[in-house]
Amino acid sequence: MQTPKKIAITGSGLVGSLLAIYLQKKGHQVDVFDRRPDIRTMEFSGRSINLAMSTRGWKALETIGIDAPIKEIAIPMDKRAIHTPNKPVYFQYYGKEGEAIYSISRGILNKKMIDLAEEAGVNFVFNSKVWDVSLSDAIIYTGETEKGEWEAHPYDIVFGADGAFSRIRHKMQRRSMFNYSQHFLKTGYKELSIPANPDGTHKLNDNSLHIWPRGEFMLIALPNLDGSFTCTLFMPIEGEISFEGLDTEEKLEAFFIKHFEDAVDVIPDLIKDFFKNPTSSLVTIKCEPWSYWDKVALIGDAAHAIVPFYGQGMNAGFEDITVLNELIEKYGDDWHTIFNEYEASRKPNTDAIAELSYRNFVEMSSKTADENFLLRKKIEKHFSDKHPEKWMPLYSRVTFSEHPYSEALRVGDFQKEIMDEIMKMENIKEKWDSEEIENAILEKLSK
Ligand SMILES: Cc1cc2nc3c(=O)[nH]c(=O)nc-3n(C[C@H](O)[C@H](O)[C@H](O)COP(=O)(O)OP(=O)(O)OC[C@H]3O[C@@H](n4cnc5c(N)ncnc54)[C@H](O)[C@@H]3O)c2cc1C
Repeated sequence: MQTPKKIAITGSGLVGSLLAIYLQKKGHQVDVFDRRPDIRTMEFSGRSINLAMSTRGWKALETIGIDAPIKEIAIPMDKRAIHTPNKPVYFQYYGKEGEAIYSISRGILNKKMIDLAEEAGVNFVFNSKVWDVSLSDAIIYTGETEKGEWEAHPYDIVFGADGAFSRIRHKMQRRSMFNYSQHFLKTGYKELSIPANPDGTHKLNDNSLHIWPRGEFMLIALPNLDGSFTCTLFMPIEGEISFEGLDTEEKLEAFFIKHFEDAVDVIPDLIKDFFKNPTSSLVTIKCEPWSYWDKVALIGDAAHAIVPFYGQGMNAGFEDITVLNELIEKYGDDWHTIFNEYEASRKPNTDAIAELSYRNFVEMSSKTADENFLLRKKIEKHFSDKHPEKWMPLYSRVTFSEHPYSEALRVGDFQKEIMDEIMKMENIKEKWDSEEIENAILEKLSK
């Protein structure tokens, strides 16, 4: 048990609202401030991004007993559906039988989490932007404008769960010895949509994450409960093939017919959506330290924003909460140790998933269309099914396990070296599932 504290969380996003439930259930008095209006009262809550929830995310929800209501608003996707020009759709299973990632609308999930947090007793303060924080005594300042009058709100502890462009972190950045980096990708993204059939069914296989891999750019689609799919087009922001270059309806239509022919028919509002929806950027943010004076700490995207190609941003933020909760149970009122160990445990792992996510763009956008890559995955899966204790594929280690991300990065690199050599073996296409290949992998693993 901890001594009850007065705790403020800035940000009622996914991480802020889940953290609020945990802390409130531990007996603390929790207020969550958000600059936005209450998204439950808005017709359209921001962008319609769909997220893939995987094992780390579910674990954080299960521990606090709210996984069941969230599963009701999620669709399992057990495979990738790869759309390559002039070929039938190829299905590649993500893991073992029964393993799946879950498609879930960020807006719907966020509304549900706020409901659940309110039920637990959390107090939300919407339309309230936090402009500043006093790091040494946990006072936050809210107000209408940056230059106007601010109201001071004193707390015992403040959590910055205010996303990639966190105001709380911004204050930390002005301190000496605070390290910070941000890196924008040259690739941006835009949301498009595949509506449901008139009878409410999905136009494409609904238990798949659909990918149209085209090298420098790709289209993906994740299913929604109402029969629609949310699509995301990832493409360079500027350059020869780019969002900037698709500046007329004719160019856009010609581009889609050339590159995504089987998608054109199912995206009837392509032109309207493309020119209406914003082109958004993708950023990796790293920083340290994550806390000051046992008073103010960062969590979720505020501490570690990553690019979305491994589908792990929210999952990593939820895992921050799992780790924090374990440390709270271990150290009770010793917030100094809790915050120090929280950062020591999470930082190497969030750096690792940042790297893996960055690399996975190439895997999704190019390699999934490459036959050698698909063969490599088949060999890995075959070996892993026979020797599960010796080989867990990288994707499974990240997505379907709770092994640290840093371990996934390290072991994944080691496995890649082995598979590079295996793929060079003569006639590999014919003997990929032979004993000879199995023994070759076993031998390399034993070195
Ligand atoms: C295209 C795309 C696809 C993605 N796909 C996946 C996926 O498949 N799986 C996955 O796990 N993750 C995915 N992510 C990442 C995921 O969306 C984020 O990691 C997650 O939303 C972070 O949650 P958060 O609560 O930390 O921050 P946010 O969701 O950004 O929430 C921050 C909150 O803080 C509020 N706020 C900001 N500043 C202030 C302030 N000054 N005062 C008060 N309130 C403030 C905001 O209004 C917001 O409500 C994806 C991201 C993108 C962009």
